[in-house]
Amino acid sequence: MSAHKNKHNICIIGSGIIGLCLAKSLLKKGHKNIAIIEKESTIGAHASGRNSGVLHAGIYYPSNSLKAQFCLKGNHYWQQFCIDHQLPLRKAGKVLVCQDHSEIDTLHQLHSQSQENGAKTEILTPKELTNIEPFAKTIEAALWPPETAVIDPKAILQCLYQQLSDSTEVTFYLNETVTQVTNTQLHTKQQCLNYQFLINAAGAYSDQIAHSLKVGTQYRFVPFKGTYRKLTPTKAQGIRCNIYPVPNLKNPFLGVHFTKAVHGDVYIGPTAIPAFGPENYGLFDNLGTHSLKILGANALLFFKNKKFRTLALTEPKAYIDLLYYRQAKKLVQSLNAKDMHRSNKIGIRPQLVNWNTKELVMDFVIEQGPNSVHILNAISPAFTSAPEFADYVIDKHL
Ligand SMILES: Cc1cc2nc3c(=O)[nH]c(=O)nc-3n(C[C@H](O)[C@H](O)[C@H](O)COP(=O)(O)OP(=O)(O)OC[C@H]3O[C@@H](n4cnc5c(N)ncnc54)[C@H](O)[C@@H]3O)c2cc1C
Repeated sequence: MSAHKNKHNICIIGSGIIGLCLAKSLLKKGHKNIAIIEKESTIGAHASGRNSGVLHAGIYYPSNSLKAQFCLKGNHYWQQFCIDHQLPLRKAGKVLVCQDHSEIDTLHQLHSQSQENGAKTEILTPKELTNIEPFAKTIEAALWPPETAVIDPKAILQCLYQQLSDSTEVTFYLNETVTQVTNTQLHTKQQCLNYQFLINAAGAYSDQIAHSLKVGTQYRFVPFKGTYRKLTPTKAQGIRCNIYPVPNLKNPFLGVHFTKAVHGDVYIGPTAIPAFGPENYGLFDNLGTHSLKILGANALLFFKNKKFRTLALTEPKAYIDLLYYRQAKKLVQSLNAKDMHRSNKIGIRPQLVNWNTKELVMDFVIEQGPNSVHILNAISPAFTSAPEFADYVIDKHL
């Protein structure tokens, strides 16, 4: 157990995939007396347990980015982790399909970028695409990154939790919200914990915690809601791999896609609809004074940032079933509106904005305080990248 009650060498706020991987990396590097403080009664209750479960293959990110540095290595790490611990893993690859000729240049750009990042990709003719995924349709060409795989995020989180709980050097404080931090202490409603070093991995709240230590004050989050639809089981059976559109590389989201989950269900989504709060999962869930602030921020971004304006004008249409269906139908040979059902799978992506420039930040952001480090933009593919990213944070910042 910990050397002194309420006194820890390192306190980590947040038990999402980032907090857990950071703890694992700390243990691997010989650190002792680590605490993980989590406001929910279970681990990974937010983004980490509510995502698509795709192990991305490192194709979307500029080669000088942190995302490119860690994504593919993380993909390989988790595939081996799932094999070693007998967790579900679907190694099916994915296809990126073009909906019109204007997307071909981006497809080739992604192909050469993925080669630079060390990821395997192949350009396919429409006939070759049909051999790999008969359900998909494309114009002129498609891209095939075979290393894309699908995992069960909750199974991985649970396995990590078990491993960390088994260590005498890790203490979990579940159901404890960090309400205040100073340079030596953090407070929850129940108690005060002393620390030598603080790691802020609080996901959608990490900006607020950083700001309270006067770190990263130029950054703040705006939340985007990702809703999913589910394909009927008969239709889902016929799909072999994941089907994605060619994304707009200027925006951080990949577009509505088909993901074949580990047990064979096929989800369509997620959308990227501006949300009214970091946990605003239902239409009017978890609204509060913060919602007014977010509404104000969204309004300002709407006027100052063209990319945000486009997202805000197009994405909410996905609340309408018919428009969601039309978007999905463009990627596949045949789809009836009745093949898609509403699903209760919803996740919220906190997207960092640099408030000085009003630009959405595309890469992971790490900010250092005097005896703290703050993970500020652990957006997709942060689940995939987490093990390697965690090692990097510990080596560079502790
Ligand atoms: C819809 C969606 C789809 C995605 N798809 C993919 C994908 O296919 N592949 C991929 O690689 N990535 C994907 N991502 C991204 C990935 O899920 C996230 O980047 C990752 O889970 C972020 O992990 P985290 O630990 O930073 O945040 P979180 O999982 O949000 O964890 C933060 C934790 O901190 C806790 N916390 C917050 N404030 C406090 C406080 N004050 N006191 C105590 N605890 C606190 C929260 O309760 C939470 O448990 C997706 C994300 C979403 C939302």
